[in-house]
Amino acid sequence: HHPARDLDVPFYTSCQEPDLSPSAPREAAAIVMLARNHEVEKALRTVISIEKHFNRWFHYPIVFLNDEDWDPEFVSTMNETVSGGAKFEVIPKEEWGFPANINQDRAREAINRQGQQGVLYGGLESYHHMCRFYSGKFYTLKALKEYKWYWRIEPDVEFYCALTYDPFVEMAKHEKVYGFTVALPKEPATCPGLFRAVADWKEEQDYRTTELWKAMVSPSWLPWPIRKMMSGLGHRDGRGDGWNLCHYWSNFEIASLDFFRSNAYQDLFERLDERGGFYEERVSTLTPFFRLGKNLMLIMRKQWGDAPVHSLALAMLLDSHKVHHFEDIGYRHDWYFQCPANAPGGQLLQSEVLGAAAFEVREEREDGIGCRCECDGSRTRNHASYC
Ligand code: GDP
Ligand code: MN
Repeated sequence: HHPARDLDVPFYTSCQEPDLSPSAPREAAAIVMLARNHEVEKALRTVISIEKHFNRWFHYPIVFLNDEDWDPEFVSTMNETVSGGAKFEVIPKEEWGFPANINQDRAREAINRQGQQGVLYGGLESYHHMCRFYSGKFYTLKALKEYKWYWRIEPDVEFYCALTYDPFVEMAKHEKVYGFTVALPKEPATCPGLFRAVADWKEEQDYRTTELWKAMVSPSWLPWPIRKMMSGLGHRDGRGDGWNLCHYWSNFEIASLDFFRSNAYQDLFERLDERGGFYEERVSTLTPFFRLGKNLMLIMRKQWGDAPVHSLALAMLLDSHKVHHFEDIGYRHDWYFQCPANAPGGQLLQSEVLGAAAFEVREEREDGIGCRCECDGSRTRNHASYC
């Protein structure tokens, strides 16, 4: 039994009749997808899926973001598919690129080095800009100014269950700030200096340590050698806390824009940005004892991603009950799935083997969509097995 469990139950546990009356509460919210023109097919599959399982009832607008001009083909394809209107925005040059203070030649060298070392996407300059963008600049875009909430989607996403209530309204009603489906442990080598940088900021700010932060650091349940190894890799702040490397997988987020627009979050982002870590890790505080670890990191090192940045900030700045796990949303991206265990009328088939779960919901609405929720049991695991 997890003590935080009672604070975070699903908003509904049975199939809802979506409230479509004009007087039904709505939030200033948008579904948002950053994409490239050549991803049109995968992007379309995502949009079809979210329309089918959610937006066919709620008709929220979908805002598409790109650092380049949109292809007319992408625009017309999406316009034909969305039910709540689509907007096609081009990210201003100032919001997408290297930070002002960085030495660009040096950064490009570091990026090339990562490419030669075979770091996944590490050699792609645009990938680094994307991580920086989603860590900070996304939230202050003029194109999103009118919204208080966003639901982030990506190309190549699938939803499995009907969502028959409005998650933005429920988030607001329950005073939630951030919602996720999947959480994963980060590969340590992808962000060796991030925890150090965040912890430095935390100490400077003297923010009070929240429950969630305490849960994510100092994972005393980890075996000693692993804790020791983590400290050697730099996931340890000045007070001796260690980060368990758990982070919310940010390709799915239903969250408050205002939280990320706050002075505290934007100040943290600026600080990380100044350190140049979205382009190159600079690890300075390793004990000589862990030189081997350092050498390994030099081979594998990568820049900071937006997912651990968001997660650490949330852990630091929010009480844990402000974070909501959407365990009722069936979700897949890349090769990770969440297969809901609590959906109405469903049957969870859970073996003794950790995480092996198959799930099927048989309750259906008259229109044949309703709360139907099917995941492929052979390929899915439920959330808890990841992190
Ligand atoms: P991963 O999730 O870390 O594997 O990264 P992805 O390749 O999935 O990229 C995350 C999101 O950013 C996706 O929605 C991509 O479509 C988008 N994205 C990544 N790089 C670029 C880029 O250079 N330009 C644009 N417009 N979108 C990008
Ligand atoms: Mn992705």
